[in-house]
Amino acid sequence: MEQTLVLLKPCTLQRALVGEIINRFEKKGLRLAGMKMMQLTDSILNEHYAHLSGKPFFQILKDSMMSTPVIACCLEGIDAVRVVRSMTGSTNGRNADPGTIRGDYCMSNQQNIVHASDSLETAAIEIKRFFRPEEIFDYESSNRNYLYALDEH
Ligand code: UDP
Ligand code: MG
Repeated sequence: MEQTLVLLKPCTLQRALVGEIINRFEKKGLRLAGMKMMQLTDSILNEHYAHLSGKPFFQILKDSMMSTPVIACCLEGIDAVRVVRSMTGSTNGRNADPGTIRGDYCMSNQQNIVHASDSLETAAIEIKRFFRPEEIFDYESSNRNYLYALDEH
């Protein structure tokens, strides 16, 4: 099973969409392995958005990510990284396909509801960035045999 990181961004808390977004992941069949509210800091955002540090919008992006707490989620499932990215949609909500989270809930290139890890390698790094090991829970999903066939891993 793969694990991936999702952050519900400040725009999602402000727009009271937290339950709705988590509901989509739950209904899809992803197991919630970890979840917490946290206030992000400049230093964690410098790491998390290092690939964007040269961009003109870097500071605005960081300020917006610190404007309220966020909710960090670790989601688990077969191919979870790819599945969650495809549920998330393109970065810019105005370009994201209807049916995706960004396509259904936002109009912005920045205030785009969620962050989602973009590869298995990134997911492992990002889960460690936002969660301590004891905050990730390995409980058994009681409906596993109905979410997946017995030979699916
Ligand atoms: N972002 C932005 N302007 C841009 C591109 C990205 O404000 O032109 C923000 C946006 O919030 C995005 C985040 O920076 O979600 C991370 O960018 P990335 O390219 O990693 O997009 P993502 O993986 O979130 O789709
Ligand atoms: Mg990204």
